[in-house]
Amino acid sequence: NTTNNGWNLESSYTSLPEKFYDKMKPEPVSDPTLVLFNISLAEDLGLQEEVSENPEIFAGNELPTGSEPLAQAYAGHQFGHFTMLGDGRAILLGEQVTHEGERYDIQLKGAGKTAYSRGGDGRAALGPMLREFIISEAMYALGVPTTRSLAVATTGELIQREIELPGAILTRVAKSHIRVGTFQYAAKWGENGDLKKLADYTIERHFPSIKEANTPYEQLLKEVIRNQASLIAKWQLIGFIHGVMNTDNVTISGETIDYGPCAFMDEYDPNTVFSSIDRNRRYAYGNQPNIGVWNIARFAETLLPLLDQDQDKAVKIAEEAIGQFGDIFQEVWLEGMRGKLGLFQSEEQDKELVHELLELMHQYKADYTNTFRALTFDDMNSMVLFGTDEFKNWKQKWVTRKKKENKSSQEVLDLMKSSNPAVIPRNHHVEDALHAAVEHTDMSEVEKLLHALTDPYAHTEEQKEYASLPPKDLRPQQTFCGT
Ligand code: AMP
Ligand code: MG
Ligand code: MG
Repeated sequence: NTTNNGWNLESSYTSLPEKFYDKMKPEPVSDPTLVLFNISLAEDLGLQEEVSENPEIFAGNELPTGSEPLAQAYAGHQFGHFTMLGDGRAILLGEQVTHEGERYDIQLKGAGKTAYSRGGDGRAALGPMLREFIISEAMYALGVPTTRSLAVATTGELIQREIELPGAILTRVAKSHIRVGTFQYAAKWGENGDLKKLADYTIERHFPSIKEANTPYEQLLKEVIRNQASLIAKWQLIGFIHGVMNTDNVTISGETIDYGPCAFMDEYDPNTVFSSIDRNRRYAYGNQPNIGVWNIARFAETLLPLLDQDQDKAVKIAEEAIGQFGDIFQEVWLEGMRGKLGLFQSEEQDKELVHELLELMHQYKADYTNTFRALTFDDMNSMVLFGTDEFKNWKQKWVTRKKKENKSSQEVLDLMKSSNPAVIPRNHHVEDALHAAVEHTDMSEVEKLLHALTDPYAHTEEQKEYASLPPKDLRPQQTFCGT
């Protein structure tokens, strides 16, 4: 595919009824410049490096070969309240089909007004788009399912927020952009089998193996529950706080989506919230699994008409499936925690051992990531926590527990190194890098941070710099969405 630079776009989404999307082009911008480009992702997608020579495509001024651009319709519960939404500032260019036959949505975020923009301008600011690029790629490198970032292009235009800000467009890559909110939209406003068409499309695209099952829609529900429970367990394990777990930001594919006010926790505290708009702490770190169940219940409700003709039976099926969320979450989380503590086998008392440690971390305000790093390298001088009798007591139990497994210290070290990141995108490091990029058009700090984040389990010298905590007077920090 030499003439197209590797673009191989399809638009299977347009096989859905028209109610699910609005065909429209991105709004051109005056002066596009590509400021970030993800070469390794481009390669995985089958794109040639030459695509990065043309910023016009990543700014929406030119369409790649085969593109049938559209904005998607969806609804959602935002902080518990149901509303119509849709792509208000995003345009799907199409689905890139790779050499391996995998299908990825290619979407421009910040590409101008759409039918779903409501009062918004359809645009995005440079800072938040760079932030999404950094954090989504960090999540990918940490091993967490996520949408990814192919490019950031500045538009050459200013956008009006509280102050004027440089505009930018992010090219987002996702297994799909089908959300719980897409199903809510179909359930609420669909007719003539629209909901079933969406469910069948979703099964075909994400879960083809359940197509022939006797109860495909029940299986769909169970697959989505598995995806989400496992995803949120992975967030908890790395201290990631999404910040805006509205049902429109819950993907059916199980990828993390919508990097708005998200942030990584420094000191361990289940009550941690960064988002300036999350005043009731609905999306606090410790509440993410509960919200995960709540969101899944909203998804299950949309599927009721498909689960059984008898709605009482349908409710039972849904409830039973939802009931499994907690078990799956616990299983993935505990397995991950064992890895973080260098434990290979499962033992009855592991859960208690982990919770005891977490409680001490909370009590002594220990940094989440650095505690596990210190345990990994037996570097016990760095924190208040490690000097306490309670911790020494706990450590004794941990050492005894480890001895029950006949593993060499090298094996334990390897497991812990690969389970405990050396570096996470801490807010203050991200903010410093963004400041240089936005205020001084200096991308070097962003590039350097991205580099340190590409292999978080490598534990290199370079990464040590990013283990530093925010200065006391910078806490607690706030993050903002919607810019
Ligand atoms: P989010 O909170 O990021 O999930 O966004 C919620 C909704 O607001 C989505 O429908 C977005 O498309 C829409 N939205 C956010 N920012 C803008 C904007 N600047 N212009 C138009 N729509 C927007
Ligand atoms: Mg969103
Ligand atoms: Mg957003």
